[in-house]
Amino acid sequence: MKPNVFIDRNVSSEVEAYLAQYCTVDKWEESSPIPREILLKKLENAEGLLTAGTQVDAELIENAPRLKAVSSISVGYNHFDLDAMRENGIIGTHTPHVLDDTVADLALALMLGTARRVAELDRYVKEGQWKAGIGNTWFGQDVHHAKLGIIGMGRIGEAVARRARFGFDMDVAYFNRSRKPEAEAQLGVRYLSLNDLLAESDFIVMLAPLTTETNKLIGQEQFKLMKPTAIFINVSRGQTIDEAALIEALQAGTITAAGLDVFEQEPIPENHPFLTMNNVLTLPHIGSATEATRANMAMLAARNLVHALTGQTPTNTVAELR
Ligand code: NAP
Repeated sequence: MKPNVFIDRNVSSEVEAYLAQYCTVDKWEESSPIPREILLKKLENAEGLLTAGTQVDAELIENAPRLKAVSSISVGYNHFDLDAMRENGIIGTHTPHVLDDTVADLALALMLGTARRVAELDRYVKEGQWKAGIGNTWFGQDVHHAKLGIIGMGRIGEAVARRARFGFDMDVAYFNRSRKPEAEAQLGVRYLSLNDLLAESDFIVMLAPLTTETNKLIGQEQFKLMKPTAIFINVSRGQTIDEAALIEALQAGTITAAGLDVFEQEPIPENHPFLTMNNVLTLPHIGSATEATRANMAMLAARNLVHALTGQTPTNTVAELR
């Protein structure tokens, strides 16, 4: 008998057809997110779940007595309650590697966009303000040859470092819990303590995963260590920074600008202060959102799920559940 799987969001017909070769597939057909109570009902008989950001916690597991594996179409898996999954022997997989270059491109887009004020100046042109030379109030900052500090020098961090070092001649430093001598040798990057990195960098890119340790890792104290000209980029998860402290730092001129792909609450609430701040570039969590990369991620996640449900060892089981 084929295992039952539930897909809780839209995926391509290729992904669905692949899964259907090995599994009996049910799916959420609508473009709006599936309401939690419907999801829980759908999982009553499911052995597998293909998802992206759905909270996989004790409540979900309790409602899914046959669940064996959850495959996330994402590299981050902060929506997995790892203790609850471990206790119930549920395999959890994610999609590392396939999105590294795409997310790194977006980190660079945010660096360039904030430094050269791309969104602000686009509005300036479209609003008909371009009547003569722009004048130095609109000048930006150089990205090339500037100092970049990467917090969380993993797969994506290294892809950012490569672009910054070899594409923009930047001086790149990083902070991790452990040093990476190979990356230091290959990419010419320096290891710094978090405080030194914050104090030295012109651009700071947050790429550490959201965990209990990194929750609000960057708050008031950390923003105060940064240069007044610093530009802060977050492509990890909104909760890795204290958003209220970032707003305060930007309003007080403690730092110059921020480029954000992720937020404490997503979608961002209508009245959020960031939405009226010209020195904040806001994107709707699109780090991996290109046609090709999202297709590759979804297919990899489908393969991970099939492996987990057919007795093979999935290569992409998340580290804490191996
Ligand atoms: P990764 O390869 O696991 O890299 C994460 C790095 O963070 C590791 O080098 C790790 O090194 C470091 N780290 C972990 N805990 C830390 C801590 N407490 N303090 C400092 N450094 C810490 O992950 P990845 O594939 O590069 O992805 C990174 C994150 O990017 C994901 O978890 C996800 O949240 C985010 N992401 C966002 C998007 C988007 O659309 N915006 C897309 C993809 C990924 P140590 O273990 O040595 O500390």
